[in-house]
Amino acid sequence: MKSAVVIFSGGLDSTTALYWARKEFEKVYAITFAYGQRHSIEVEMAKITAKNAGVDEHMIFEVDLSKIGASALTDLKMEVPRTKSVEEVLSRGIPSTYVPFRNGIFISIAAAYAEAKGTTELVGGWNVVDYSGYPDCRSEFLSAMEEALNRGTKIGAEGKKWKIHAPLINLTKGEIIKLGLSLGADYSYSVSCYRGSEVPCMECDSCLLRAKGWAEAGAEDHLIERLKKEGKITE
Ligand SMILES: [Zn+2]
Repeated sequence: MKSAVVIFSGGLDSTTALYWARKEFEKVYAITFAYGQRHSIEVEMAKITAKNAGVDEHMIFEVDLSKIGASALTDLKMEVPRTKSVEEVLSRGIPSTYVPFRNGIFISIAAAYAEAKGTTELVGGWNVVDYSGYPDCRSEFLSAMEEALNRGTKIGAEGKKWKIHAPLINLTKGEIIKLGLSLGADYSYSVSCYRGSEVPCMECDSCLLRAKGWAEAGAEDHLIERLKKEGKITE
């Protein structure tokens, strides 16, 4: 049976990747990392989204990267930078919300989980168009990790080739949302805000890119719809 492990943060991109995997694979295992992120609400929400998507198994894996810190997402003494516009996100260097080698760590743990399940297929929502510029999201990095897994795992040594699927890598945020909608994705519980707020702060990279995406897709954000219904947003 064709199966895959999806690295699933619970945000908008990885929710799309999760629904993509549900279509491509017969069995889907999702793994969500509780890594000491200030927006830990995404872990609780990820449980709801994974259940709604009907995954076969959802593992919450704790790996406390706040012990290492050096990122505005894991170190509460650092401030999440206030971002004014999408243009600013796309034109500046790597911001302080970069978490040291986060995707390298996540891919390694997800690969161990996959190997235990007998699969060499990994899926993630990495994207390099509307993104913050993190180097561990880029395709050359993902290819290098595939090669490392081919060489460093028993399943690889026995001849099975690893594949890291990044179906969103070259899509704009609007295209990502359109793809998700065509796959029936439910984004009501996908939260994105770096400040850890269920209601978007609209002053961080993630909130601004998300709003741009929904505007491009020409639809109302499922999350906003739900928050209005629950009275958490008035207007
Ligand atoms: Zn925000």
